[in-house]
Amino acid sequence: MQNARRSLLSNALIRFSVGLVAALPAWAGPAAQEIGSYRTAHEAAILDEFMELLKIPNLASDPGNSRRNAEAIAAMMRRRGLSPRMLEPRDKPDAPPLVYGEWKVPKARQTLVLYAHYDGQPVNPSEWATSPWTPTLRSAPLNADGAVIAPDAASRLQPETRLYARGAADDKAGVIVILNALDALRSLHLQPTDNLKIVFEGEEEAGSPHLRAILEENRQLFAAQLWIICDGPVHQSGRKQVVYGARGDENVLLSVYGPNRPLHSGHYGNWAPNPALRLARLLSSMKDEQGQVHVRGWYDDITPLGPTERQAIAATVDYDDTIRKQLGLGAPETSRPLNEAITLPSLNINGMRSGNVGEQASNMIPETASAVLDLRLVVGNDPQRQYEKLVDHVRLQGYYVIDHEPTAEERLAHPLIATMSLKPGSYAAARTPMDDPLAHAIADAVRASSDQPIVELPTSGGSLPLSIISEALQTHSIVVGIANYDNNQHAANENLRIGNLWDGIDLYAALLRHAPAAARKH
Ligand SMILES: [Zn+2]
Repeated sequence: MQNARRSLLSNALIRFSVGLVAALPAWAGPAAQEIGSYRTAHEAAILDEFMELLKIPNLASDPGNSRRNAEAIAAMMRRRGLSPRMLEPRDKPDAPPLVYGEWKVPKARQTLVLYAHYDGQPVNPSEWATSPWTPTLRSAPLNADGAVIAPDAASRLQPETRLYARGAADDKAGVIVILNALDALRSLHLQPTDNLKIVFEGEEEAGSPHLRAILEENRQLFAAQLWIICDGPVHQSGRKQVVYGARGDENVLLSVYGPNRPLHSGHYGNWAPNPALRLARLLSSMKDEQGQVHVRGWYDDITPLGPTERQAIAATVDYDDTIRKQLGLGAPETSRPLNEAITLPSLNINGMRSGNVGEQASNMIPETASAVLDLRLVVGNDPQRQYEKLVDHVRLQGYYVIDHEPTAEERLAHPLIATMSLKPGSYAAARTPMDDPLAHAIADAVRASSDQPIVELPTSGGSLPLSIISEALQTHSIVVGIANYDNNQHAANENLRIGNLWDGIDLYAALLRHAPAAARKH
């Protein structure tokens, strides 16, 4: 039975790939047109609802506003008949709620979970052109001199319009795309082919600290064959993208020390050690000019990519030089192509601080220098083990490593002291095999809804809590992002290109209506 279904599937796959440049499969036709017309007729209402949601501040560290977001989303789901419930972990009832809903259909072949998150990364409002929670429409991107357009101007619905707000792309866009794709299906009396469960998480950007507990406490509720993650961008070329995994992530806090009070740089310069220089030396010992990390064992433990994964990377359009020029880079850090570089564990400096620059600069020797490092992990890396490799490296540079502010005695006893700690919320990488039949079938549905070839990658460079989902529920996930790649996610002036919102709704509606059935082992 399974074999028969499998060969049916492979026939279907061959048909889809051969048919790419020719006509789309028959089923993509009339329904796709109906979905497109439905969406066009409702664009103004969709955008208004989106902008209302973006007005609610969405930091996972802000319990009051997290709840307001969750309640607003639950109300949106109630209006759509999706039976929303709010789920919090038993031992932390004030954590940002996970909003759960479902749409069960008769004769469903399988169950899919649609996932997005409503929280966003922290903001520094002084870096934003307009306030992060005052959603603002512009005629073009800010760096192309996009002018503000009125919230009721007809041009706001144009594909090239940009919507600026925290969460506009990452990832309240995912919430809006999923809910409006379901609206389109319901209004057109097009029933999804599978039972759908909907999950909107409220603390993804904080490392999903309670997702595992919520999933484990409600295993039956979340039972499904595949999670589809609506988060992240389409490919830089604008092509639709299906990604089978995500890197894990962890943040390391690192401080080194000089004198126990700031000193006059004239009276003590050349004598008192400077912590900024120490930090610079320490960080530069970690990674060379070719992008190679020199922490012992850094690239050990990696589970190698299979032939399908390597082929997929080789088959992606070479877009690196275009991106390099757009970013104003003379050269990339490594000779590896971008899509290959992101299959390795990374070591990135998120920020450094010591003394002052600019207006506040003064001639002094600072007391301390600190950095935050961001380590992206690949399949095979254990977060704790990777962190310990870094701690060992700092020790090898002669540092006495502690996890607290140094005491007076420690300062006197050790010339070089480093405080290191791992920020809570790290998680491992996860990857669904690219030949997993169900995941592959979803990719085919995406392919069929696209008039250009799509990009398929074994992993995203970014991180998503896929390992938490696979460990808690023994299920796979794939990522079908919809945002423009230049969305400034995690930074100031985050934005969504409106055309990507429209395409995303069309894509998800088509995908849920017609996700091809696939044999699947359990
Ligand atoms: Zn996200």
